[in-house]
Amino acid sequence: MRQDYRATASEEIPALKNIFERGHANGLNGLRWLHQSQIAEYEPHVQGLAAVYVPQTGIVDYTEVSRRYAQHFQEKEGQLLLGERVLDIQAQGTQSRVITTQRAYTTRLVINCAGLYSDKIARLTYPSISVKIVPFRGEYYELVPEKQDLVRNLVYPVPNPNFPFLGVHFTRMIGGGVEAGPNAVFAFRREGYRKTDIHLPELWEALTWPGFQKVARRYWQIGLGEMYRSFSKAAFVRALQKLIPAVQSADLLPAGAGVRAQACDREGGLLDDFAIIAHEPAIHVLNAPSPAATSSLSIGETLAQMALQRNL
Ligand SMILES: Cc1cc2nc3c(=O)[nH]c(=O)nc-3n(C[C@H](O)[C@H](O)[C@H](O)COP(=O)(O)OP(=O)(O)OC[C@H]3O[C@@H](n4cnc5c(N)ncnc54)[C@H](O)[C@@H]3O)c2cc1C
Repeated sequence: MRQDYRATASEEIPALKNIFERGHANGLNGLRWLHQSQIAEYEPHVQGLAAVYVPQTGIVDYTEVSRRYAQHFQEKEGQLLLGERVLDIQAQGTQSRVITTQRAYTTRLVINCAGLYSDKIARLTYPSISVKIVPFRGEYYELVPEKQDLVRNLVYPVPNPNFPFLGVHFTRMIGGGVEAGPNAVFAFRREGYRKTDIHLPELWEALTWPGFQKVARRYWQIGLGEMYRSFSKAAFVRALQKLIPAVQSADLLPAGAGVRAQACDREGGLLDDFAIIAHEPAIHVLNAPSPAATSSLSIGETLAQMALQRNL
């Protein structure tokens, strides 16, 4: 699977050059700078002023990857307990008592990887932590089968460097279909997978977080644009047409959504890197946005090293 970043406006060219140079600096071989007329060699239906061809990019069946992680963990005698919600963590000397909806566990170390609720779990052992998770829903469409040949591989726009999310893009999936999206819409509840999902206490918590208010002031235009695009398929299609002009509204069917757990600090910074902190008696993964799934083995290694350093 290959990936192309397309610049569709001249002011995007410097950012595209930056992506190209960073790719080289990170040791990617075979990167190719494509002039306008060369784009069709890879993606005949895509238009742009220039593009970068990245031969190394791929996609995986992440459900299967997760299953394998679980299997390896269990083969090493790890015990996987599902369907329990952590309610509280209490200090007990050098140990912790983790209380869930089912029972209580005593442990020497807690590693918190609770995604959309990671800040809440972190506050149980580190109440003054100054990070809040703000949920951003990413909605997708998929191309109808007759139009899937509009896209051969993965096609990305040049990301806006001021915003932590990639723009809407095309992804050829492992099973052959093509997804288009995701947008990035502020969600009215943490697990707000549908437009109508709303949870007033969670919404209030996000809106009153000083950092979020600063984010809202800084990005209100982008935010409103994303909200509009969420409700207007025509606006979503227009964004996709910047990459593939032939895409039409009738070619796209709604295809579900995910919610990003984006950490926001008190000063209004949307953390754009992974954030992992060790604070007795726990290690908290506080920000693991995309590409944290891709980086999961490396993040796991970092966590294992941090755990081993604790000399438990
Ligand atoms: C639309 C979208 C597209 C993405 N695309 C990509 C991509 O192309 N590549 C990529 O690398 N990444 C991508 N990501 C990001 C990726 O999904 C995340 O980085 C990754 O899932 C983070 O993993 P995590 O284990 O930290 O959190 P999660 O995967 O969110 O897992 C957290 C888990 O903790 C559980 N939990 C929460 N609270 C509690 C509690 N109180 N008690 C017990 N359990 C709890 C949750 O149920 C969940 O199972 C995308 C994300 C979205 C939303």
